[in-house]
Amino acid sequence: ILDTATAIAWVSRAAELVRTDEPRLTRLDAEIGDGDHGANLTRGLLAAVVDIDEKTPDSAAKTLITAGRALISKTGGASGPLYGNGFRQFGKELRDEGDVTAVADALEAMLRGIEELGGALHGDKTMVDALAPAVAAFQEAARSTSDLHTAAVNATKAAEAGLAETIPMQARKGRASYLGKRSIGHEDPGAASTVLILRALAEVTA
Ligand code: ADP
Ligand code: MG
Ligand code: MG
Repeated sequence: ILDTATAIAWVSRAAELVRTDEPRLTRLDAEIGDGDHGANLTRGLLAAVVDIDEKTPDSAAKTLITAGRALISKTGGASGPLYGNGFRQFGKELRDEGDVTAVADALEAMLRGIEELGGALHGDKTMVDALAPAVAAFQEAARSTSDLHTAAVNATKAAEAGLAETIPMQARKGRASYLGKRSIGHEDPGAASTVLILRALAEVTA
């Protein structure tokens, strides 16, 4: 069950993983963007941890909505409103706390929130290219297991494969799109951070 404690642990672990990999995310964004993705998301997720700590939300849903608001106001960059809206929609869909089926629906709401705000489609070389296959893999797993961890592990693997698929893509959204064909041959930084966010969910549900 994704309960309050697990939701809090998810956001904290995501903050740790992103902070640890900040240099790698920064390098990826320096290659096809402006080199701030690692710093942006570290700032946003650490702010989310502080806000959750101060507001002591009493459900998983409220925890993730609080995280989403903090991400929107503190992250900066294109990724802040996108991830922020994603976490808010995740929390709104979850309502209180959720089993594997409810989390599958919440992840789908997160993806829809990001797609609607950013307008990116699969193949545009963005975080959507990691998140969309991850959501599909999670939903697929949710049909045969009630174990959140198993579903989250499958989703993380699908996100990793989705990240690899961004390498040959030409960016059509965000700063990387300004590079045109020169955006080809690099991993998308937002797809890389999406892998970390899903890995954090897999770890805290183990
Ligand atoms: P900025 O580009 O403003 O510096 P970040 O570096 O924090 O913001 O985030 C860049 C990442 O945001 C990209 O790698 C991409 O995955 C994601 N991104 C940018 N624009 C969009 C969009 N319209 N839809 C989905 N994701 C996007
Ligand atoms: Mg950037
Ligand atoms: Mg920037």
